Amino acid sequence: MTLSRIQSAAFWGLEASLIDVEVDVKKGEKFYFIIVGLPDTAVKESKDRVLTAVRNSGYSLGLVECTINLAPGDIKKEGPLYDLPIALALLHSQGIVTTNTYKEYLCVGELGLSGQMRPMRGALSATLLAKKLGKKGIIIPIQNEKEALCIPGIEVIGVECLRDAAAFLQNPTSFTKKSFVAPTEKETPSLPLVDFSEIKGQLLAKRVLEIAAAGGHNLLLFGPPGSGKTLLSKALIGILPPLSLEEVLEVTRIYSLLGQCCGLVKERPFRAPHHTISSVGLVGGGGIPKPGEVTLAHLGVLFLDELPEFSRSTLEVLRQPLENKNVTISRARQAVTFPTNFMFIAAMNPCPCGFLGHPQKPCQDTPIQVQRYRSKISGPLLDRIDMHIEVPAMTYKEMEKDASAEPSSSVQERVVAARETQYRRNGPLKTNALISAKEIAKYCFLNEECKKLMQNAMEAMHISARVYSRILKVARTIADLDSKPLIESDHLMEALSFRALNDE
Ligand SMILES: [Zn+2]
Repeated sequence: MTLSRIQSAAFWGLEASLIDVEVDVKKGEKFYFIIVGLPDTAVKESKDRVLTAVRNSGYSLGLVECTINLAPGDIKKEGPLYDLPIALALLHSQGIVTTNTYKEYLCVGELGLSGQMRPMRGALSATLLAKKLGKKGIIIPIQNEKEALCIPGIEVIGVECLRDAAAFLQNPTSFTKKSFVAPTEKETPSLPLVDFSEIKGQLLAKRVLEIAAAGGHNLLLFGPPGSGKTLLSKALIGILPPLSLEEVLEVTRIYSLLGQCCGLVKERPFRAPHHTISSVGLVGGGGIPKPGEVTLAHLGVLFLDELPEFSRSTLEVLRQPLENKNVTISRARQAVTFPTNFMFIAAMNPCPCGFLGHPQKPCQDTPIQVQRYRSKISGPLLDRIDMHIEVPAMTYKEMEKDASAEPSSSVQERVVAARETQYRRNGPLKTNALISAKEIAKYCFLNEECKKLMQNAMEAMHISARVYSRILKVARTIADLDSKPLIESDHLMEALSFRALNDE
């Protein structure tokens, strides 16, 4: 009897945990093969896949009785990930692989029937686990090699097929091992999705985007179809500060978990889910919870176009991630928390047909239809939005006037400077949007003139306490962009002008 044990990984949220793949083999009268420790549905598939891949790779197992155990049994596992470690443990127990090299490596990967590797999810998390466990390296499908190479201090063995992996274990020195190479020269920044200079006119909207980017504020744009709401939202990515290396890894890890990346994700993500998206699609879910759009937008922008078309229940689930900057998915055994620190931009038409207030096209809707359309967005959600502004349709003349459109890079410089001011005052990476009630009282002091202005506005605009503090935070950001230590009446007035929907 021989017992082989290869170490592998399982995922829960963004974390990976250690799984032992134990294979017990003895000579028998007839062929017998059993897997325990996997959910029932996955067992048969794994068994068939592994045995076929082993045979098609040219190995013969003969008449043996094999028992495979994936331990610990109480951790939820996704079957395909253990194909490669199971197959390698079988080859070891059969004396086809004779060295003990496997003990120094973590091993993950799904096999195709021909014995070729298939791409996996979570390669980055698995590599981090291998490093944490002090392994020499990780054996991983070649398709995921780039992701794994993002982690310094660990060997990455990208294999194309089962034979490749077996050859490596048998004779590691014959193999070229790769590991993380630190970027030496400063990389040239890639071009933004949409550059500010490409957007003609819309000076107010551009100003609001700059304030939003500087203070991390969320916003609602409303205006007729074709006024450029989507284009403006995409342009926000290009004026936000570049991601730090730590943030790059944070984002990459999320995309790696969904099997959606090749190499580092260096750009801030822009996510624009359609209004038919389910609550699970938006916030995440599933048996082994997977991140939803709110997490895929982490450190980037979440753009919801045609906000009133989203179902009320979908918008309700958005509240927690908006407020807490993370989302918790409860499961019987253990809850999973995913980060959701995104910038939120919503857009909507002014009315169902879209042309209310349009200079040329008439609106087809009755006042009741308009009111019903707008009331689809609940007060509590609207209260959580820092700024709402109108994005009008631009006439050709207005666009022509705006010949000197500023590029994103120079707007970004002002944003970065305003953020530095905030981090010095509020604490590291804490934008004005994130400050507490206590900090608002401390940093958003209003002089007598401002106090009076605020009082009048509150009465005229029916401003709630929650909205009151949002206006203060926006005014603080405007003062920061203006390099002023105190909020002045101009700053406050501008912040008050971004509550277009409170007027109604
Ligand atoms: Zn209309």
